[in-house]
Amino acid sequence: MKVLTLDFDGVIADSQMECLFLVSHTYLKFNENTKLFGGQALTFDNFDGLKEKYKETTEKWKSLRPYIVDAFCYYVVLYIIDKNITVSNQEEFNKIREKLIPGNYDKCVEHFHDGRYNMQRGHLREWLKLETPFRKIIDEIKKLENKYTITIATNNKEELVQVFLDEYGIKPKIITDSTLSSNKIEHLEYIKNKLKADFDQIYFVDDQVKHFPKLMALGVKCYLATWGYNNEQQIKEAKEHGVTLLDEDNFYKELTNIS
Ligand SMILES: [Mg+2]
Repeated sequence: MKVLTLDFDGVIADSQMECLFLVSHTYLKFNENTKLFGGQALTFDNFDGLKEKYKETTEKWKSLRPYIVDAFCYYVVLYIIDKNITVSNQEEFNKIREKLIPGNYDKCVEHFHDGRYNMQRGHLREWLKLETPFRKIIDEIKKLENKYTITIATNNKEELVQVFLDEYGIKPKIITDSTLSSNKIEHLEYIKNKLKADFDQIYFVDDQVKHFPKLMALGVKCYLATWGYNNEQQIKEAKEHGVTLLDEDNFYKELTNIS
């Protein structure tokens, strides 16, 4: 048995704009005087225009995306942009995050998730439009379905991910989500046990490096999705650990060239 376990955000779907849209409402709610996006609330109608008008903000958002490890970090990124703070590595980002946690974490995360839930319930088509598919990868995942048992390990929510997967025709055997853990090691352990497989039968594709070293020590084959949310520092780190780097051109080949 070979198991292909894929992360969702930054591997199958590009959710950067969806998260920017959602967290901008959270940020505005708790920082009424912000000048981000001219102090305006983003709507489905004005979003494209404001993204273009405030291109610098949109670009900074993309460049800081690789530092995000949980839903609260989206808020932290907007704070960094709003206050014009320079961040050049994960440690600097984490320090700001730590500073902001007291008094902000719970209410911001709740507001963000409520917004996502409401959008999914009331505006599913609009939500799908904000969630851009990595089309080539999706087509190839479907081709890999006869070589691997496909599973998804995401820190997103299963019900949202499922809507997207239904839209694009991917049928994973298991989806583990943030309700299980934010730690991918626990996700893979769950998948392994559920499928009665061994760690060395799992091929894991993620755009985040942080869990790779421990997973590799357990025998999991790890692959970095370089089309996702990672920066040069993280790619270098992955290389140092001997992680295979995937891009949209070698994805299928690397995952089928396995004996
Ligand atoms: Mg990801």
